Amino acid sequence: MTSNNIRNIGVLAHVDAGKTTLTEQMLFLSGAINNIGSVDKGTSHTDFLDIERQRGISVQSAHTTFYWKGTKINLIDTPGHTDFTAEVERILPALDGAILVISAAEGVQAHTLSLWNTLKSRNIPCLIYVNKIDRIGVDIDAIINELITELGINPVLMQNTINTAEQDANIHPIWKDGSDAERLSMLEPLAEEDESLLEAFIDEKAPEFDNIDKTLIKLTQSGKAQPLFFGCAKNSIGIKEILDGIIKYLPSPKGDNNNPFAGVIYKIIHDPILGRAAHIRIFEGILSIRDEIYNSRLDKYEKVNLVRKANGNSWVDVKELHAGDIGVITGLNESIIGDVLGKEPKKYNIIPISMPLFTTQIKNREEKDYAALAKALQILCSEDPRLDFEWLREEREFHIKIMGWMQIEILIHIIKTRFNIDVEFDDPAVIYKETPSEIGEGYEEYTMPKPCWAVVRFRIEPGKRGSGVIYKSEVSTDKIKQKYQNEIERTINTALKQGIKGWEVTDIKITLIGDEDHEIHSRPGNFILATPIAIMNGLNNIGTTLLEPIVEMTIKAPDEMLGKIANDLTLMRGSFANPEIENGKFTLQAFVPLATSMDYAIKLTSRSGGKARLSTHFHGYQSVEDNLGKKCEYRGINPLDRSKYILWKRKAITL
Ligand code: GDP
Ligand code: MG
Repeated sequence: MTSNNIRNIGVLAHVDAGKTTLTEQMLFLSGAINNIGSVDKGTSHTDFLDIERQRGISVQSAHTTFYWKGTKINLIDTPGHTDFTAEVERILPALDGAILVISAAEGVQAHTLSLWNTLKSRNIPCLIYVNKIDRIGVDIDAIINELITELGINPVLMQNTINTAEQDANIHPIWKDGSDAERLSMLEPLAEEDESLLEAFIDEKAPEFDNIDKTLIKLTQSGKAQPLFFGCAKNSIGIKEILDGIIKYLPSPKGDNNNPFAGVIYKIIHDPILGRAAHIRIFEGILSIRDEIYNSRLDKYEKVNLVRKANGNSWVDVKELHAGDIGVITGLNESIIGDVLGKEPKKYNIIPISMPLFTTQIKNREEKDYAALAKALQILCSEDPRLDFEWLREEREFHIKIMGWMQIEILIHIIKTRFNIDVEFDDPAVIYKETPSEIGEGYEEYTMPKPCWAVVRFRIEPGKRGSGVIYKSEVSTDKIKQKYQNEIERTINTALKQGIKGWEVTDIKITLIGDEDHEIHSRPGNFILATPIAIMNGLNNIGTTLLEPIVEMTIKAPDEMLGKIANDLTLMRGSFANPEIENGKFTLQAFVPLATSMDYAIKLTSRSGGKARLSTHFHGYQSVEDNLGKKCEYRGINPLDRSKYILWKRKAITL
């Protein structure tokens, strides 16, 4: 099978739009399963976790493979709740195309917009499936209009609906059964891109379908147009059409078996039998069992044990995976999600995923589970490093980072079912950051008690907002040898994990500007010890500014609520531009601190009786006055407490 005969496709939607139902129907129609499961009865084939079945929502991205007309379709059904945005973002590097599912009853929902933005930012070709055309009150023209105005989609209507909003709602293909005017309407979104179609459109003469189709394929694959399909997944309507659409309009993977191996890990699971297993998308080359593959982040090789491919919903052992394919491998103990394996990872520009904005403390309900919980959290963190598990041994506390309440609920469930530990959480608190307030220097002279020698001097400057950490060295290797300079560079990120206000330090430029090593006394470890002291010393001299996370809100509501909502936004320290008013409704764009707006979605829904719609996404960090933000105690031993820190680092004292 060449990669022409493969499609790697994600199914994305706001929760409840019908992704799992659609997936189930595709599996059935293709013959991969011989009974249709139901999300309502908890028998769907892709909601694996107990909690997914109980609540009828998907948390993990499930992977299925089936064949349609000789093409292999790797399909990933993704979670639709905002807390799991990162789950969705992670699988994007594995995809060549996507289906965005919209519920005709609800239209564009809060999460739809952020999913669409994510797809667009990664330039992933996309089909639109408007589901639930049977639901009462469905207004097809309004939906199409929303897709155009709210998402900026350029839809090409493939079908018309009949008996809309009735139980027997159905579809018919425009090109085959539609009127001339309807056929011409398909041309409009394409005409601008293709001269012959433009002519046909102006002359009001529908051209051959093949002509349209060729242009549509091209524009879909370059992200300029989105074929729009209708359906009622529950009643098996529009399934065959979307499957045909997948193989016709979405691209096959690029990649060549003859090139050197490259692939990305997009998910890590813990299988009761296999142990740690990595889901991998192969970009180039062939991956075989027992291959040693290079991880540049770790600068080491890891050996592949087992290789598996999906078949329907189950997995089969295979000897190798080919360019363009998706599979599961075991044997990689240290590689994590997002790692691009192979010799040239930089060729594959993987956009980083969203980071959690909340921190919380997690506690074992029963004393006896303390050590077991520590172990469990280490395992969970190795599968999802964003949890950023911190174990404060002295205080006997566990801290992790999370996306929101929904994730807490899921974690409670996972820790109970997988590790049999009962846990509870503190209320999540917003994660602040800090950045140097001005330019200054940090210095440390670590030369006593011998044997040791590391003298370092850094220039520390504030960086542009969102620039992260930038490090460089202006010191020659005659003064500080390269091997020591490497240790300094490696230590910078650890040193910045907690600044003088207890938060991670970011948007900072650090330059090594002095001083020296010692021919006899220096050891690499001396520089690992001296660097955090010098940096904290510098930050303490300069002072830092607190940064807080800001969310961008889009609010749509009836006109009469404008005054009230504007007032809410002001109270939350939000800023906003003039609203756009149309048909008795206004749309408002606002930037609001996360800390003041955590429960605003719920408040607004109840206050407006569901008439106001709010969509949010993380915008970035912005400076905030200390008294409006929050300080955080330093966890562990502070390098500013210099002598204690040195003793601890030299293992003369323990915690
Ligand atoms: P997901 O959260 O996107 O995976 O959505 P599900 O597939 O779990 O479906 C959510 C709910 O919508 C379930 O109760 C389905 O039975 C229902 N549903 C799915 N497709 C349709 C449809 O075409 N019409 C109607 N009326 N309901 C549907
Ligand atoms: Mg689902």
